[in-house]
Amino acid sequence: MDHFLYREGVLHAEDVAITEIAAQVGTPFYVYSAATLKRHIGLFNEALAWADHLVCFAVKSNSNLAVLKLLGDMGAGMDVVSGGELRRAVAAGVPGDRIVFSGVGKTREEMQLALSHDIRQFNLESEPEYRALSAVASEMGVTARVAVRVNPDVDAKTHEKISTGKSDNKFGIPIDRAREVYAEIAALPGLKVVGIDVHIGSQLTDLEPFRLAYQKVAELTEALREDGHEITRLDLGGGLGIPYERSNDAPPLPIEYGQMVQDTVGYLGCEIEIEPGRLISGNAGIMVSSVIYVKQGEARDFLIIDAAMNDLVRPSMYAAYHDIIPVNEATPGVEQAEYDIVGPICETGDTFAKSRNLAPLKDDDLVAFRSAGAYGAVMASEYNSRPLIPEVLVSGDQFAVIRARPTYEEMLARDTIPEWI
Ligand SMILES: *Cc1c(COP(=O)(O)O)cnc(C)c1O
Repeated sequence: MDHFLYREGVLHAEDVAITEIAAQVGTPFYVYSAATLKRHIGLFNEALAWADHLVCFAVKSNSNLAVLKLLGDMGAGMDVVSGGELRRAVAAGVPGDRIVFSGVGKTREEMQLALSHDIRQFNLESEPEYRALSAVASEMGVTARVAVRVNPDVDAKTHEKISTGKSDNKFGIPIDRAREVYAEIAALPGLKVVGIDVHIGSQLTDLEPFRLAYQKVAELTEALREDGHEITRLDLGGGLGIPYERSNDAPPLPIEYGQMVQDTVGYLGCEIEIEPGRLISGNAGIMVSSVIYVKQGEARDFLIIDAAMNDLVRPSMYAAYHDIIPVNEATPGVEQAEYDIVGPICETGDTFAKSRNLAPLKDDDLVAFRSAGAYGAVMASEYNSRPLIPEVLVSGDQFAVIRARPTYEEMLARDTIPEWI
């Protein structure tokens, strides 16, 4: 459930009409619902209420400072994958002891930064990485709490670009080598083993791959404890999918996920960390765009809108589906038209949807892309010299621009022409 509903024929974000925001900030823009973000954190807290736990929001899914502050103030932790994201979490007031650092390529500078904030945990992914962290921590005279990301070799059955738990991808250490790796880490200065980490992919719509992975993690926990390691935390990653296509998808609910976690690893008595991104921010945001032209093609009609692949890349990058709905609700019973919905960029890939049935639209009508709060604004670029689009946050009847649209002057001012040209 989210908070984007029609009221008297107009799509609202909570109590604010989308038409009102559009009139003030112009299109295209992203808008997020505070109530939906909070609700989603609450669902995970409820699902894991049986254990000591920390929900670490995957910052990469939506890194706006206002979003991070809202979630951090609810007690959420943050899963960061770069020094930039770490700085964002800190700037949003999240204390270091709720920040987890993931990712395959942490630089020494990023490690230093994270250690200076005494972060909760590093999730380590390779031998050179843990050697580097040992050296950096020793030099600083501090101890880094670490978990090793194990690759359980399970097929997450999701899009290949977001599957991370198979043995042939770049993530983690093969689970069969884990005992050897933990022994090496335990012998290194500056590192303290606290747990095990696993993350098998994103947009999973079935619990089975998680269950298989978590069973392997449970076995590994027992084995590592036998080897003398203190395993007190399990970081079970993110990846739970959301219903992008309302009419078809029914991914598992957080409560069912939490039950499965209890069934697989509950008996170990570990503190549970999870790193959901999409499930928290995805359905908490929409992207709003307006129709520039309706172009009558030979085979079909095109809806040319003012948002493009640079603003929301998921359809062209992952062939992702987004529900696209009119902001002014269609009159019931009106005969639908079939459209290809495209942006203005000079690439055939700048296509959001093909053969969508919608009530007939005309120039300047507004449309909303549902489920655009995760991997939307964060993946945007200025391709075709289109300034990044603004982000707006709604809470009840208030709204605020939480990232302004840059002016063309600001965009151009970032380039410099050297004197010698
Ligand atoms: C991307 C990522 C997540 C979040 O994935 P979602 O599908 O958005 O829940 C969590 N942990 C790690 C390590 C990631 O790379």
